[in-house]
Amino acid sequence: MTAQIIDGKAFAATIRDKVAGHVARLKADHDIVPGLAVVLVGEDPASQVYVRSKGKQTVEVGMQSFEHKLDVNTSEANLLALVERLNGDPAVHGILVQLPLPKHLDEDLVINAIDPAKDVDGFHISNVGLLSTGQKSMVPCTPLGCLMMLRDFHGSLSGMDAVVIGRSNIVGKPMAQLLLGDSCTVTIAHSRTRDIADVVRRADIVVAAVGRPEMVPGDWIKPGATVIDVGINRIDAPEKGEGKTRLVGDVDFASASRVAGAITPVPGGVGPMTIACLLANTVTACCRANGLDEPE
Ligand code: NDP
Repeated sequence: MTAQIIDGKAFAATIRDKVAGHVARLKADHDIVPGLAVVLVGEDPASQVYVRSKGKQTVEVGMQSFEHKLDVNTSEANLLALVERLNGDPAVHGILVQLPLPKHLDEDLVINAIDPAKDVDGFHISNVGLLSTGQKSMVPCTPLGCLMMLRDFHGSLSGMDAVVIGRSNIVGKPMAQLLLGDSCTVTIAHSRTRDIADVVRRADIVVAAVGRPEMVPGDWIKPGATVIDVGINRIDAPEKGEGKTRLVGDVDFASASRVAGAITPVPGGVGPMTIACLLANTVTACCRANGLDEPE
């Protein structure tokens, strides 16, 4: 069997088109332009790439992008003052503080200082609580992107066995909540899980969010299962030349794609969906702030 490839890049493009349509209508009908503020502390190269890409795509769909770059040694008080300013700025509908923050800054404190209505990453404790109780919230972008791909591929997920590998607050836990919300039977596996291969082999849906290159081999996958690979790992690629690298997921694509029914590639799977969902969340936040109907 050769798995069907779930093309996150193409799907993300359709989401961006929809977002651009909503943005154009907000401008034409209400003279409102959604705005997304991204805060980057320090010069972590991967974070810089993400922030640049987010800013570029924000502008491409017609929204306003506000980038705030702070020195790596910036104080917590300084960062909190910026968040406070953005909370009070009516042109800013979404605020994203790029993680990870430098060690001297308390991530929980900073994230929980963001106005929950502008928390387009969905990491504020109130949004976490709303999601886990099935209420309207801001949903974290990466798990939301995974859910959209799964719904698009399967239609209903009701009754399916889902295994999420990874229990981070950013991906694993909200992913499990979303799958539960769609009536899957959900197992969360992590570094202490016993017989993880057997656990994963039960799953109709596997979401891998671990951060270990190609950790999940094909013989952990139930034939025909759907595999969503969240991992983004840069590894050496001597075959491309000296000092060259390439991106791989948490799943061994070569062996898993021979067993799975469908699989997301890395790159071109979950990654593009994450930014598309961020843009969609910003439009949603903007509509809510202005008492307008939200996009579906
Ligand atoms: P974290 O490091 O926060 O969490 C990793 C999780 O994996 C932990 O729960 C950990 O378990 C678990 N784990 C580690 N080793 C094993 C193991 N051997 N077996 C089973 N479970 C294990 O990572 P994130 O959730 O932030 O990210 C995960 C991956 O997703 C990374 O590659 C990251 O780059 C990628 N990512 C991709 C995004 C995208 O847009 N595509 C967005 C965000 C992340 P324990 O809790 O027991 O330590």
